[in-house]
Amino acid sequence: MPVYTPEEIAETYKRMDDNELIKFASTQARTLRKDIVIHLKKEIASRGLDTSLLSWIDSEVQDYVGLERDSLLGKIKGVRCPNCNIHSDLRGYEFNRVTSYVISYSQKRYTKILCDSCGKKEKWSTIGSNFLVGWWSKSGFFMTPFLIIKDLCNFLFIQKISSKIFEELIDANTGYFRRNGIDNGSIIEVINTHNFIKSERN
Ligand SMILES: [Zn+2]
Repeated sequence: MPVYTPEEIAETYKRMDDNELIKFASTQARTLRKDIVIHLKKEIASRGLDTSLLSWIDSEVQDYVGLERDSLLGKIKGVRCPNCNIHSDLRGYEFNRVTSYVISYSQKRYTKILCDSCGKKEKWSTIGSNFLVGWWSKSGFFMTPFLIIKDLCNFLFIQKISSKIFEELIDANTGYFRRNGIDNGSIIEVINTHNFIKSERN
């Protein structure tokens, strides 16, 4: 893959029409390096486009680091579980579920933020269901034991997996938190969206 200089990238932005530039900025700003973001903002400013787009970019790229990140992480873990609404001290759980098993075998991985009790319950439930339905296709017959062993081993790394899921959640929602604040309402919204998207839409 060719490596472009910031100046070459700035030229690319110049060649985009307004709509392309707005679409690009609103969907991709978060993925850009800081030195590239400067060029994107310059181009938007020089065209006199909606200044709220510049604030949007700022909110997307202003990462949570250090104490601020620790504080956000603490708040996320401290809200009530979106499933039972009783416990807090949340964790990120990874699940593997066999989704098609009659003719062919396929599995999907998804993650959810839940309390220990709900997380472990769902984990055992998916392991049990995979155990029951995973064997009936040819590839499932070979894949199912590996999947079950992998899931059982994941119990040993629950803390490590959870940390990774939280890190990804914060990074993916940095812009949302910057724009909406990090009160319980925003955090619960982010967790609910994460849990729904990861389990239902993938
Ligand atoms: Zn719960």
